[in-house]
Amino acid sequence: MSFKDLQLNKPILRAIADAGYDAPTLVQERTIPLVLEKKDVITSAQTGTGKTAAFALPILQLLFDKQDAPKKGKKIKALIVSPTRELAIQINENFKVYGKNTNLRSTVIFGGTSIESQKDVLNKGVDILIATPGRLLDLHKQDNINLDYVETLVLDEADLMLDLGFIDDVKKIERLCPDSKQTLLFSATMPYKVEQLANTILKSPERVEV
Ligand code: AMP
Repeated sequence: MSFKDLQLNKPILRAIADAGYDAPTLVQERTIPLVLEKKDVITSAQTGTGKTAAFALPILQLLFDKQDAPKKGKKIKALIVSPTRELAIQINENFKVYGKNTNLRSTVIFGGTSIESQKDVLNKGVDILIATPGRLLDLHKQDNINLDYVETLVLDEADLMLDLGFIDDVKKIERLCPDSKQTLLFSATMPYKVEQLANTILKSPERVEV
């Protein structure tokens, strides 16, 4: 299978080719079509399998398709919640690479660093926000983040997120997004507590295991 078979549009295909990717990985091949159909999805895949692109590419595609709509809202359309700062930064770098031929804007926020500069970026408006849970909730409390327009929520490395004690934060974040959103849950392992979280948050999810 090729990336073209996955119905990705030209600007995204060009960016993937520039990144040197020849063909989708298994997790991408199985996850991308489901995301494009706007299904909720649970994907169990380890880091290194190409799981980031498995959600980043279809999210860019879905948002890009809708882009001729009246311009330059400050609305966050996709929210990716990540357990660690390092991972969050890496996800944002991937969005920049794959989205370089679109004018979709992404940014990353995380704790342990100045909140003011993050507020400035948010106030200019972003389409895609990558965040660690604590800082996300802080900025929401301070009215710098509106999650009312989120169309796709991604919980990345859900098992690690729960191990690090973020369960209540994740549930809170999910409730701040609209009921109508699409939710994608990625996890390296699927222990009972991740299943339980998935059961409370996702709607009739499709499953991908690689
Ligand atoms: P991840 O599992 O998301 O951490 O990705 C692991 C690495 O694989 C990253 O360095 C990606 O840039 C790379 N990668 C992702 N998808 C592909 C692909 N289809 N072909 C080649 N490399 C890829």
